[in-house]
Amino acid sequence: MKSGNLGYPRIGSDRQWKKALEAYWAGKLEEASFHQELKRIRLENIKTQQEKGIDIIPVGDFTYYDHILDTATMFGLVPERFSYAGGKPGLDVYYAMARGNKEATACEMTKWFNTNYHYIVPELQGREPQLTTNRPLEAYLEAKNELGIEGRPVVVGLYTFLKLSKGYDANELGAWIERLLPLYAKVLNELAEAGAQWVQMDEPILATTLAEEDLRQIARIYAYFAAEVSGVKLQLQTYFEAVDHYEAVVALPVDGIGLDFVHDGGRNLAAVQQYGFPQDKVLGAGVIDGRGIWKADLQSKLELLEQLRGTVSPERIIVQPSNSLLHVPVSAAQEKALDPVLRNALAFAEEKLVELALLAKAAGDDRDSVAAELAEAKRSREQLQQSPARALHKVHARIAGLASEPSSRPADAAARRDIQQKRWNLPLLPTTTIGSFPQTPEVRSARLKWRKGEWSEQQYETFINEQIKTWIDIQTELELDVFVHGEFERNDMVEFFGEKLDGFAFTAYGWVQSYGSRCVKPPVIYGDVELNAPMTVTETVYAQSLTKVPVKGMLTGPVTILNWSFVRDDKSREEVAYQIALALRDELEWLEEAGIGMIQVDEPAIREGLPLKKEQWPAYLEWAVRAFKLSTSTVKDETQIHTHMCYSEFHDMIEAISALDADVISIETSRSHGELIASFEEHTYDKGIGLGVYDIHSPRVPAIEEISSMIDRALRVLDPELFWINPDCGLKTRKQEETVAALRLMVDATKLAREKYAALASKG
Ligand code: GLN
Ligand code: ZN
Repeated sequence: MKSGNLGYPRIGSDRQWKKALEAYWAGKLEEASFHQELKRIRLENIKTQQEKGIDIIPVGDFTYYDHILDTATMFGLVPERFSYAGGKPGLDVYYAMARGNKEATACEMTKWFNTNYHYIVPELQGREPQLTTNRPLEAYLEAKNELGIEGRPVVVGLYTFLKLSKGYDANELGAWIERLLPLYAKVLNELAEAGAQWVQMDEPILATTLAEEDLRQIARIYAYFAAEVSGVKLQLQTYFEAVDHYEAVVALPVDGIGLDFVHDGGRNLAAVQQYGFPQDKVLGAGVIDGRGIWKADLQSKLELLEQLRGTVSPERIIVQPSNSLLHVPVSAAQEKALDPVLRNALAFAEEKLVELALLAKAAGDDRDSVAAELAEAKRSREQLQQSPARALHKVHARIAGLASEPSSRPADAAARRDIQQKRWNLPLLPTTTIGSFPQTPEVRSARLKWRKGEWSEQQYETFINEQIKTWIDIQTELELDVFVHGEFERNDMVEFFGEKLDGFAFTAYGWVQSYGSRCVKPPVIYGDVELNAPMTVTETVYAQSLTKVPVKGMLTGPVTILNWSFVRDDKSREEVAYQIALALRDELEWLEEAGIGMIQVDEPAIREGLPLKKEQWPAYLEWAVRAFKLSTSTVKDETQIHTHMCYSEFHDMIEAISALDADVISIETSRSHGELIASFEEHTYDKGIGLGVYDIHSPRVPAIEEISSMIDRALRVLDPELFWINPDCGLKTRKQEETVAALRLMVDATKLAREKYAALASKG
């Protein structure tokens, strides 16, 4: 068997790539030096893969920002609002599309399937596509000429590219396929001429739910290539899920098919065993998890490969990751500060390359020569498995008794509303904010001083309290109805909690690209999750002590903490979510005991955890809702639970959101107002709800008329008695002056709205 890879992190072991991009954007790096630096990183990545023993090395997966943007610009698909003279788009056009410039706003960015990577959405209207440059060819030749490495060029598949693009109607899809087919064929034929043997054609769209029409189009595309391309073989690569139409996909006229055997719920393997695999094709066997960070259980991977060998002969199997390693950090070897038991159980991109090479060797009947390495991998996993961090008996007992844990509040939402209204006596259309106030340079530098030990605990606490006091005063002056403490003590809404919960670790270099040069360093949930001391009570109680107006306690919810972390692989995500939920429950109870009567549990990431396949949505939503409710169901009826979500694609999960049973929800709205409001025409929402009345992503202070019209539009479909007024999201990225100015207008607009809607509300 051969080992192969599908893509490698671009960012470099110390985010050199990010630093180069940002230096170039800031004008601190000349274009020529910038190209040189990126070339250095690119070639380094390829060499690493060779050194680790990978037989089939991807080339052309590297990028200056995003691989979908690369594909769009390769075809000259530059939206008309950017000045572009045709031909190969320069870096100015390329980065204008990614980031916007003075003359035009950036292209939209959206999530790459169910990952946390974001791609630039191509816009197809306006221009005729043309092949401006053969990028895969350039990459292929560079690796060959500079390193003597015969790489396998990666091309974004035509159908995936079109399906991820916007700016055309469904009935124009066929015409767009027509336009792009000859261009793709040219790319492939030129590669063939240059001597490339194989091309990796990525079609992750094949792992989503497809209609018959999609399959017909895909068949047509690959039939065209079979007829018009010669001299180069196509490896059709799918990932992130099982392919639904296995028989149709493996029958496509290509030379190899890559399947994900990690995130497929066992369905790809079952399909191979049930329907067989074509004798004339190569199977790319995605057996190493390209999204998780744990060392593989190599023994079970060998068994999986053994099962595949029952159908496919070994010389036609490539041992590969489930997907591009773009989604994992670069090297676990750098994590010197981690507990060795944990560090030894980690496999980032470099370590996964070693696993792939090892598996290929072992599966190819060379098991004895790698016996020591296999044993070592097993030991590393076992050591973590047997570590005390995974043996918190109280946590295990709580999970075992889950069925008897309350996961619904005693009174229903309507009854609670009456009880809570008696307690708070809030005005019609109560005003509030989402949680954070500006994280000024002053706040950040204070945190840094405290982290470095330059400031004592006491000094830092005094500073935070001053911030809280300042903003309680501001909120009082603004006459908001429900206050927040401002989250000044928090850097990040997951890291802050992770640092206080058992079972979480933080890496030093575990960065993963999120979009463009932006990288995130997700916490690692490696052990059982437990809470030993309150996390937020001190600050919240201090804030409440300064005012009679209710101050909301502010927590990040269990599903968001889960979805923004790397999660242990010995337990289901569901169970880990419940562990986090129960730990948060303790915090909610502590807040309540300390006299806090409103608690907000943010769940901005529920939506992004949705499975790729629609039929799996109900199961996910069911446990996600249960996790949220486990956290929030033991408080008294008079305690008001709030939640917040950062997106407005609401229509397809409105029932689940309502099932969270939060007394009040706030949702981002202003950037896509019409859409969200429309979904309430079809579904009535019967709990407290605040649709963001102004966009916090821009420094612009809205006009009062804009806010009023947002309120009016919302109240056409929502009950004024249930409606709350708030900004779209937290205000941590804004400046103080703009925040105060915008909130003042929000309160003024609310006062006008109260006069207008009071009569309506009293009529009920
Ligand atoms: N409470 C958080 C804040 O205001 C919510 C942020 C979010 O949902 N992303 O910052
Ligand atoms: Zn938000």
